Amino acid sequence: MEYKILVIEDEENIARVLQLELQYEGYIADVAHTGTEGLIKYREGDYDLILLDLMLPEMHGLDVLKRIRATEQFTPVILLTAKSDVEDKVKGLDLGANDYVTKPFEIDELLARIRAALRFSKPANKEKDEHLLSYGNLSIHEQTREVLYFGTAIDLTPREYDLLHYLLKHPKQVLTREQILESVWGFDYYGDTNVVDVYIRYLRQKLDAANSKPIIHTVRGVGYVLKESANEA
Ligand code: CA
Repeated sequence: MEYKILVIEDEENIARVLQLELQYEGYIADVAHTGTEGLIKYREGDYDLILLDLMLPEMHGLDVLKRIRATEQFTPVILLTAKSDVEDKVKGLDLGANDYVTKPFEIDELLARIRAALRFSKPANKEKDEHLLSYGNLSIHEQTREVLYFGTAIDLTPREYDLLHYLLKHPKQVLTREQILESVWGFDYYGDTNVVDVYIRYLRQKLDAANSKPIIHTVRGVGYVLKESANEA
């Protein structure tokens, strides 16, 4: 199937190069040169992904993003940012952007991020991918063993992956250390349950690096639960 991508970028050279590269890769690519034009095209077209420059005339990229996210959460948005946009980049991710690339970017890196974002965007993926497990902003692809948290790829060791996979299979369920140990390490593991705590700590560190909103919570005296914080939308 062909994916439709909307490029919202005011610098005509960059927009043109992006459009050509995307078309070369087999995507349908449209360009808008202002935020307003971008929003109009976004509403009229059925896009699978949006590349959004932040420094746009008339309407700032963050305002464009806000308006998109006010109506839906699903279309992946990748920000095109300048090095100096650190604060806006963070704001953008908080507002629901999936990823960003910093200009000047390598086209191959951008294409890889586009592929990852499209793979993980469920409703845009018109065919349901039964290998995709998701909860909140966390997704695991069971075939490729890729892990995405808030749009960022997380690199895990095989054991960390197995542990996160087990937690993700049972979201919002309190799991005891013994349950986790049996399912992830197997019955033939003779060490004590401390190993679970150690690996939970590794996982938290890696997830934290992508987004500091905690998703693995300790249930004192019992075990762990994977769930989104209560104050989250
Ligand atoms: Ca710009």
